Amino acid sequence: MSGFVEKPKPVEVPGLTHLHTGKVRDLYRDEAGRLVMVASDRMSAYDWVLPTEIPDKGRVLTQLSLWWFDRLRDLIPHHVLSDELPAGAPADWAGRTLVCRSLEMIPVECVARGYLTGSGLVEYEQTRTVCGLALPEGLVNGSELPQPIFTPATKAEVGEHDENVSYEETARRVGAETAAMLRQTTLAVYSRARDIARDRGIILADTKFEFGWADGDLVLADEVLTPDSSRFWPADSWEPGRAQPSFDKQFVRDWLSSPASGWDRNGQLPPPELPAEIVERTRAKYVEAYERLTGSKWA
Ligand code: ATP
Ligand code: MG
Repeated sequence: MSGFVEKPKPVEVPGLTHLHTGKVRDLYRDEAGRLVMVASDRMSAYDWVLPTEIPDKGRVLTQLSLWWFDRLRDLIPHHVLSDELPAGAPADWAGRTLVCRSLEMIPVECVARGYLTGSGLVEYEQTRTVCGLALPEGLVNGSELPQPIFTPATKAEVGEHDENVSYEETARRVGAETAAMLRQTTLAVYSRARDIARDRGIILADTKFEFGWADGDLVLADEVLTPDSSRFWPADSWEPGRAQPSFDKQFVRDWLSSPASGWDRNGQLPPPELPAEIVERTRAKYVEAYERLTGSKWA
């Protein structure tokens, strides 16, 4: 079982048409045809959207994406038009809402990996490849790869896992020229971000980008380089050969899998509400990620 314990109802705002409720974000269209992305405080773990929210999480993700977009714009244009609150929107949307160009999205989850873990590790252990790319012997969970690799995936429905696909399959789906642009841009953006994060004591193990077209130009879309779209590991506790502590979700995962939660992640029942202490520690981790990466105090 997976998905929402209870799917949230869209907020009604005059002039906005609700398009989609994702695990974390809600999408609307405004009267000018622009996309309005609202990042909620919802959190997912073990394929579930948890019944308890993490205060400030949506704002942290939104402000972090903006910060990164700014640092990447010489490599690729991004989709954000404004971070001003649309007229009539609830005050609670402030800081978590971005008005974006509505793009023709390219249906590929563009993943870059500099380290081996997750679905990459699973494939590697079976075939010594990731997305069909051959890798050296002897790598373990958390190993740094000889060089970053582009490992595209297809998007799955809520509760399903994205599926890794080969570069050749990606080229068949979107065309050879587009596939080459996606790979080149994904790796360039990843490398820039990895270096920035490394300077701040954070390993950017892997990350996912989405791109779209606007008048023939490739544009970086969605959220970027947030703890929800990336694996960030504290560099000082990195130790290949075991699962690395997740920067943001570790307290939640540890608690959910402990006897204290009374929850069986392989069972049929949804996860329980989180205790206040776990919520507060997780909130502090998201804020710490923001502060360490940007070097600014969370306001
Ligand atoms: P998940 O919770 O698994 O991420 P999701 O991807 O369906 O689910 P969100 O990530 O909340 O949900 O929704 C963002 C959606 O908006 C994605 O489908 C993404 O491809 C799309 N999107 C992002 N930026 C743009 C844009 N500029 N124009 C059009 N669509 C966009
Ligand atoms: Mg998404």
